[in-house]
Amino acid sequence: MKITLKALFSLVFSLLAFFLASCSSLGPRFERLLGTVCFVNLYESGKERYYDEIFDRLKQIDEEFSFDTVKSDLYRINAFAAKEDVRVSDDVFTVLERAQKISEITDGAFDLTVEPLVNLWCINTNSPHLATQDEIDERLPLVGYKNIILNPSDKSVRFAKEGVRIDFGGIAKGFAADEIVKICKKHRIRRAVIDLGGNVYVYGKKKKDALWNVGVKNPEYPDSAPLVKLALPEISVVTSGTYERFFEDKDKRYHHILSPKTGYPVDNQLYSSTVLCTNSMTADALTTAFFVLGREKTMEILPSVRSELGIDLEVIFIEKNHNVYFSKDFPYTRAVLYRDWRIFRNQAK
Ligand code: AMP
Ligand code: MG
Repeated sequence: MKITLKALFSLVFSLLAFFLASCSSLGPRFERLLGTVCFVNLYESGKERYYDEIFDRLKQIDEEFSFDTVKSDLYRINAFAAKEDVRVSDDVFTVLERAQKISEITDGAFDLTVEPLVNLWCINTNSPHLATQDEIDERLPLVGYKNIILNPSDKSVRFAKEGVRIDFGGIAKGFAADEIVKICKKHRIRRAVIDLGGNVYVYGKKKKDALWNVGVKNPEYPDSAPLVKLALPEISVVTSGTYERFFEDKDKRYHHILSPKTGYPVDNQLYSSTVLCTNSMTADALTTAFFVLGREKTMEILPSVRSELGIDLEVIFIEKNHNVYFSKDFPYTRAVLYRDWRIFRNQAK
């Protein structure tokens, strides 16, 4: 067989193109899911099929935890669990169990049953409502995590009374981040940044022996440079803050983290609470809970929260008086980037 020079060139070129296409990485990719923008960067491991698998999984989670789809587990729970046992997916049951555990150890500061209050204030929507005391009093009896009864034998849920409803807004993104990490591990992806609307997971090593730089927002200028800069190994960093979702009325800010006890947006010294730990679902629920509990109470219970959950976790509180508190013995390198903020190391009792 006679091979012409032109044919040889074209063969070599095609092989080279094929080789480069299979080596070249794609991404990052982002999509609007779970009520926020979900961003994933797989760097040099970024292949179309990995991104597809990750975003298909996110879509599946979105459907299970969605308020809108009649077929979703959340819809079925809220519609029927007061009358009958509602069987749910493994995903939803996992999140329910973790949520209940965190409610128990935070004395109900985190509580999925805040939904009737979330629905009253409508802070996450374009038409928020300034709730009256009467409206709040009407709904408070429906709030209480003990109104959720879980049956692990058939993964079903039952509500103790009529009118109870649940909201996964304070925990679902963390669960989703952990599920993406599982996919990364399965494919031996070297490094990734996962950011699900501020629910961050830095996975693997940034470079050989290099740590990740992660910022915590300046609550007064959330769109500018971060207030705190951290150098971190593989970990999840989750923040709950007053600047995320809110409305203002007569110079008062009403934000989206509600006290299950009073029914109002939590009004304390805090701008934000941040939790760092290797389980993003836990970090997500705990930031909400710690915001509700406030700094002093959180620092008091932190050792017992760690031992109850069997996990290392660190916290950062940013206060309205420009104090930034780190948990005692905070092990990571950190810097506060604005001069008029003071750093404290909190002494847990
Ligand atoms: P996060 O941004 O993680 O603090 O979650 C806030 C979201 O969780 C809100 O938008 C509500 O949907 C829901 N939520 C508000 N307050 C609570 C609470 N005390 N416990 C559990 N979920 C809450
Ligand atoms: Mg949360």
